[in-house]
Amino acid sequence: MTTTARRQAPYVFFGQTTSLCDECLTLVPAKIAIEDGRVYYHKRCRTHGPRKVLVSTDAAYWRLCHDYLKPGDRPLVLQTHTERGCPYDCGLCPDHEQHSCLALIDVNEACNLTCPVCFSDSSPRRSLHRPLAEIERMMDALVRSEGEPDLLQISGGEPTIHPQILEILAAAKRRPIRHVMLNTNGIRIAEDPEFVKRLADLRPGFEVYLQFDSLRPEAHLNLRGADLTRIRREALEALERAGISTTLVVVVKQGVNDDEIPAIIDHALQWRCVRGVVLQPVQDAGRNEGFDPSRDRFPLSAIRRRIVDSGGPFGEGDIIPLPCNPESIAIGYALRKGAKIAPVTSFFPRELLVESLPNAITFEKYPDLHRQVLEFFSLSTAECNNEKKLAELLCCLPEVPLPAGLGYEDTFRVVIVEFMDAHNFCLGRVKRSCIHFVTPEEKIIPFETYNLFYRDAAARERMRRSLEGR
Ligand code: SF4
Ligand code: SF4
Repeated sequence: MTTTARRQAPYVFFGQTTSLCDECLTLVPAKIAIEDGRVYYHKRCRTHGPRKVLVSTDAAYWRLCHDYLKPGDRPLVLQTHTERGCPYDCGLCPDHEQHSCLALIDVNEACNLTCPVCFSDSSPRRSLHRPLAEIERMMDALVRSEGEPDLLQISGGEPTIHPQILEILAAAKRRPIRHVMLNTNGIRIAEDPEFVKRLADLRPGFEVYLQFDSLRPEAHLNLRGADLTRIRREALEALERAGISTTLVVVVKQGVNDDEIPAIIDHALQWRCVRGVVLQPVQDAGRNEGFDPSRDRFPLSAIRRRIVDSGGPFGEGDIIPLPCNPESIAIGYALRKGAKIAPVTSFFPRELLVESLPNAITFEKYPDLHRQVLEFFSLSTAECNNEKKLAELLCCLPEVPLPAGLGYEDTFRVVIVEFMDAHNFCLGRVKRSCIHFVTPEEKIIPFETYNLFYRDAAARERMRRSLEGR
């Protein structure tokens, strides 16, 4: 009698999720496989066959993300009912697990650039500027959903070319919104000093979210279709002069600017007005024609590894999963003194970060953190100022009071945000999305499903075909 040796799978079958076919956008089952320290989805569409998609380059970090999960914070009101099932009921619907940590309102579709990576497909060929009254209704929908929204980004298109942009920002400031950001390519800020003065009047609680992908002209040409080196420098100079808090936003594309990540963080620290850097892997949305995930995507895990291995201030324990949406967002928080920083995220025990109760804690309860603050700022004593919190911008972080005399300008953060597309889509992960668009129909829709199925007529046609394929 002959025996045949059983064959072992070349991967660990970790579990199962539901993804999308990247061609017809039908929901498809996806096996989660861990292979050679990486995480993949093995998907199969009845019509378009199998796919193997890289989800994370760091299986250990990907597993760690699940330890950070915390009970979701729900919105105050919902806009839709559960009818067709996720992702076809966006509203938010009762099945969604997170409120809007960050909400976006697109105030226009027009833009003064035509970026090859634009997820909203904006350009000078598009002319829509939403009326102020409609935008105010969108803001009111957000306030109804959140009570006091943490963070609203005024976005587009290019919002600074909206004829009523200052009225829009003033309308946002009139509402109980904790922090308002202007999401911009920086051209008007570089070229219009009077506009920058008016923006400075919106402080405090106002920040510029400035596109800043590279220090090299060739990377700008690849990502933005134009050499924006001068614009970026002049915009930063204007923001520095005006003392306007600024976050630099980097779209990372493999082989184009992934090698620059540590240099961009160093560069950010040269500017007093910069409060942090947000890094986003390029995704397959909007105009991103010719996108090849295996060639172009530099995932969250790879960005994190690039920062940690650079020998800079953020080490392995300093960039951690954000508990409300751990697979999609990683954060590192630091104290800042001039161009020097001292990461503090590692001082927060995981149990504290994942508590569902309000996370207000006393500074003294964390003696190592207390000591680090005293040493870093060369203080002999540190009386706490309960009005100033270390984590003013991300609702999942504990509210650690800062010593008197220190404020938001003495902090610095690195945030990695990975938006999904049809290739790496995960139904479980999208239900935890906390970055949402507010639509003119006064709906609140997760970033990913908005771009896939709701943004415009083309997206709605994709939804129709996706539903047909079920
Ligand atoms: S993504 Fe969220 S809001 Fe949209 S259908 Fe799914 S659970 Fe509902
Ligand atoms: S990415 Fe921003 S700046 Fe570029 S085309 Fe789109 S809206 Fe305009």
